[in-house]
Amino acid sequence: MTGWIFYGLAGLFFLLSQYAAIESWREREGRAARRFFVAGMHLPLPFVVLGLLDVSGAWALGILGVLVLVAGDMFFPRRGGTIGEGIVPRGRIDERDTMFSRVDLVAGTRPYQAYYHRHPGRKKGDDRLRANPGLLSSAASFYDPHIFPAARANFELIEYNRAYVDGEVAEQQLSVDPCFLARYLKQLARKYGAVSVGITRLQDYHLYSYRGRRHHYGEPVDNDHGYALALTVEMDHDYVRNAPYALSVLESSRQYIRSGLLALWLARIIRDMGYAARAHIDGEYEVVCPLVARDAGLGEIGRMGLLMTPELGPRVRIAVVTTSAPLQVDDRQERYSMIDFCLKCRKCADVCPSRAIPFGGRENIDGVWRWQIDQQACFTYWTRTGTDCARCMSVCPFSHPNTPLHNLVRQGINHSGLFRTFAARMDDFAYGRKPKPLTRTEVMRAEGLD
Ligand code: SF4
Ligand code: SF4
Repeated sequence: MTGWIFYGLAGLFFLLSQYAAIESWREREGRAARRFFVAGMHLPLPFVVLGLLDVSGAWALGILGVLVLVAGDMFFPRRGGTIGEGIVPRGRIDERDTMFSRVDLVAGTRPYQAYYHRHPGRKKGDDRLRANPGLLSSAASFYDPHIFPAARANFELIEYNRAYVDGEVAEQQLSVDPCFLARYLKQLARKYGAVSVGITRLQDYHLYSYRGRRHHYGEPVDNDHGYALALTVEMDHDYVRNAPYALSVLESSRQYIRSGLLALWLARIIRDMGYAARAHIDGEYEVVCPLVARDAGLGEIGRMGLLMTPELGPRVRIAVVTTSAPLQVDDRQERYSMIDFCLKCRKCADVCPSRAIPFGGRENIDGVWRWQIDQQACFTYWTRTGTDCARCMSVCPFSHPNTPLHNLVRQGINHSGLFRTFAARMDDFAYGRKPKPLTRTEVMRAEGLD
């Protein structure tokens, strides 16, 4: 009798491994498919041997008990560790300190002189990166004559959209139920392509202190909206896996458009109900999107400094709508398991071509426990290659597609510290510690364009 239990377990492990191999093959993960296939041939062997030995009932019960305990540890929801204090920044962030702002400063102009008078230590590095060809430049090292123009066209389209982030509010104000309106707006956003949507009270630290982008440079941010809705849209897995090459920047620009259009549209709907609403889209931010999204319950900020969502990890783009319309807010959900996984994984730090991502634990920066990437190193790489890299995003184990196989692993990561250690090593085993980017030809072939 005990023999059949072990044969059953052998069959279960065999089927699971082969299922993982087939799924990996469908995801164009050749190495993972091969490894799961071979593992599936070996993993059942100990159980077959135990079956042949026909061990005693007590032994069989003991082995089964251990397996049940391991499975229970993986899938039984319980309270894990806590992220604890220090998640709220002491003050506002100045958008002029971001690399997107600094790269645009022109030597000899007043903003340039004022900025480096305040931050003399940043001048040399910034001057060096401004001497590089620049994002989407035809002189950049990853220039692609077909893909760069498409990405440039996308960013141009976003530029046109910037005029519509705000607008007139209808005179007649609709009386709204905060609970219904929140559910309605979230449902609309999902229906039109958002992966996740959440609402939070707008906090002072969500807002930039000063604007840092082009025509609004140096303007103080004054936004008295009480609420913020954050949404994410998915970035295509194959295109992101081409990172750090051109298809990844094409995909970023495409998703900036999609998330931006959703935010513009929702803001317009709210204004029509008689409430102030402003969309925060690429280049037109008054808020720090990852902080808003985190507080709206959409994820945690991981080692690479991006929002990590439970559904797709960092493989998303965010847009935000701030509004005076009363909305029921979502609770921020602490996801200690994500932070703990980042502590164990460090894969992004290992693959980062500019060594911009730290390897150690979180540090207390301005009152917040977090990882701080070296923005200057990261952006210098972007301006040399012409793409927005995204290599860290592409290799992150949380970026795998939203399929039953990967969701099973996500469940385990969520519930068990032991499984987090195992999953980080398994990801290296299956996909490699430094997975190779998918080539442009492979992506195009999958799209029928070879
Ligand atoms: S690659 Fe690993 S360490 Fe980096 S953000 Fe993703 S989970 Fe965290
Ligand atoms: S985008 Fe590229 S260079 Fe920047 S932190 Fe990520 S891996 Fe490093």
